[in-house]
Amino acid sequence: MLFGRRKRKPIVIPNKTVKEWKYTTCNYCSTGCAIEIGIDEQGKVVTSRGHAGADVNRGKLCIKGLLETELFESPGRGTEPLIRQRFHEPFEKTDWDTALDTTANKIKEIQAKYGRDSFAVVSTGQLLTEEFYTLGKLTRGCIGTNNYDGNTTLCMASAVSGYKRSFGSDGPPGCYEDFEHTDCLMAFGSNLPEQHPVIYWRLKEAREKRKFPLIVVDPRVTMFAQFADIHLPITPGTDTVLINAMMHVIFDEGLEDRSYIEANTSGIEELEKLAQDYNPKLAQKVCGIDEDTIRQVARLYAKADASMSIWTMGINQSTHGSDGVVNINNLNLVTGNIGKPGGTSLSITGQCNAMGTREWSSCSGLPGYRYLENEKDRKDIADFWGIDPEFFPKKRGLAQTDIFPAIESGEIKGLWLIATNPMTSMPNLPRIRKSFQNLEFLVVQDVYEDVETNQYSHVYFPAAVWAEKEGCHTNTERRVNLTRNVLKPYANSKPDFWIFKEMAKRFENGEKIEFPETPEGAFNEMKQLSVGTGRTLDISGMSYEKIEAARGIQWPYRADSETLKGDPRLYTDGHFQTASGKANLIPVRFVNNNECPDDEYPFWLNSGRVVEHFHTRTRTGKIGNCNKFSPTPYMEMNPDAAEELGVQHQSYVRLTSRRGDAVVMVQLTQRVPRNMVFIPFHYHDCVNRLTLGLLDPYSRQPAFKQCAVRIEHVDQEEAARLNAERRAY
Ligand code: SF4
Repeated sequence: MLFGRRKRKPIVIPNKTVKEWKYTTCNYCSTGCAIEIGIDEQGKVVTSRGHAGADVNRGKLCIKGLLETELFESPGRGTEPLIRQRFHEPFEKTDWDTALDTTANKIKEIQAKYGRDSFAVVSTGQLLTEEFYTLGKLTRGCIGTNNYDGNTTLCMASAVSGYKRSFGSDGPPGCYEDFEHTDCLMAFGSNLPEQHPVIYWRLKEAREKRKFPLIVVDPRVTMFAQFADIHLPITPGTDTVLINAMMHVIFDEGLEDRSYIEANTSGIEELEKLAQDYNPKLAQKVCGIDEDTIRQVARLYAKADASMSIWTMGINQSTHGSDGVVNINNLNLVTGNIGKPGGTSLSITGQCNAMGTREWSSCSGLPGYRYLENEKDRKDIADFWGIDPEFFPKKRGLAQTDIFPAIESGEIKGLWLIATNPMTSMPNLPRIRKSFQNLEFLVVQDVYEDVETNQYSHVYFPAAVWAEKEGCHTNTERRVNLTRNVLKPYANSKPDFWIFKEMAKRFENGEKIEFPETPEGAFNEMKQLSVGTGRTLDISGMSYEKIEAARGIQWPYRADSETLKGDPRLYTDGHFQTASGKANLIPVRFVNNNECPDDEYPFWLNSGRVVEHFHTRTRTGKIGNCNKFSPTPYMEMNPDAAEELGVQHQSYVRLTSRRGDAVVMVQLTQRVPRNMVFIPFHYHDCVNRLTLGLLDPYSRQPAFKQCAVRIEHVDQEEAARLNAERRAY
């Protein structure tokens, strides 16, 4: 009998004539894959391929990158600026001058009536770095509101906060090359093969060449957990307990790196004292991992010559996300695993340019990791831009997650949303929906005019997408990579860079501050601001030509660099960015303030991603071959739990939390334990109708991963009726 491939017809790759290949970087996740776009004689995009010479992806792409060129002409793209008086009226098409003038006048009117900070700006992690820098100039230097943030608060704020607390500065210390040197890798709350497929491929390749243990900590049997040597199915929200118990074993058995600790850290006494309280025998009752396994993993990690930890949202999206990051750093510092090949903390960033916004957008401070709280930093930037330093606030304003409650309370009256879709991405959506109705003015800037949040806007700016623009991204491992301008913007959409530059002309300080005509001009300003700062974030040696020739360069990359290679790791000399130069060991005590299952709401609700979709499906929902694999919301449920409730595979259920309800199709699987369900977060009016999103006190990041729900079976007719009701709402 013939099976499989021998019976199938071979795949035929269409023969397309490419006149020119143009260099770009993927605009979805933070892996930072280099993509070449093939253009034919008529200037039409005909194909694309992963760049074989790029160190990050070495020719590979995941499904999203492979199909990314379909974005250029995807349905729902904005063609003209739109305007209306009230959000429930129909839009009218308008010209750019009218849209920009109306918006600038509205911003000024609101600020004059209610104060400068009554107008807020929320951006994204998906613009190009030069656009972030220019938006920062506009918002901090011209509009002058302090309520300015990025949607990166929903994904990476805890990593930023944890790095700053431990090392004195943001910036992931490690790199992908560490996979080739490590002797033990521990992954916390990360489903790498689905979230960052090409990083996973790098890891897998490294393990095929040289076997080393892979430990995956995740409450769910994710795809990553299935590939692990050891899977730790932890109780949600108890990572602090697990790591403290591991450190208990490490100190107890003398496995710490005492000479590294003494030379490069401060605070060891308090940390050791705290770890005494986390005996694995007691810890196992809280974190759900048995005592022997905690001891085994602690020994494995501490005894390896080089160990590294990676993590994503399972750590960051928690009521104690910042503490979780600090504790991963604690573990690596006490075992001497920072700044050496294969020994590191490495946050795996979500959005393609979340790093760029952290570095240069001025969201939480000023460009180049400068602080609003620091007088010299304020003066340096004010002098460079040519404005009065007193124009800057002296401390950071509201984070994104505090901006929406401030709309609700009437403190904020106007909002500008840029490439972000809070109507799908924010927790507790029923509350967010209501808050939008309080706004006197909302402007939405997005590639797509059918993005859900646009339902509430007064003005819509159609933006260009990806390679319709030019500029840089910074990826997870601090690698700056370039996207060349391949096509003209679609219809009458405009690059975000152009929109910010034009808006600045309508403000008084826009006359004083110079806004370069091209993204490369903005890049050159950023380079100047990074020279000789003593910070790790130094890009002064880079140029567009060098970046393209190297297929991406990691920072720091100084002006005197003689090769095309930046520093792969930070803190190799044991010197940190703190006042003392030493890393901070910060004891982290477990506090259980999660919403946990109880009699009324007996299931944990967990959320995450699938490989085909990116964030709120604004883009991937339009790409046929991405959408067809996951076209509708679904929920993973354990078959035993389903049997108890009389729920069948592929039937519908209604989930209810203390915030709202959602209807989804059931997929029965052993990937989730009996008391947990999992729903991908990408779908509109779905999982975030249920989530609570308690905020981390340091990072203000919401705990998307932990809340409680109850489940009831509904028939197909009822499911259709409930979903129709929601669409009409
Ligand atoms: Fe793009 Fe990330 Fe896929 Fe690479 S792994 S192609 S960067 S989505």
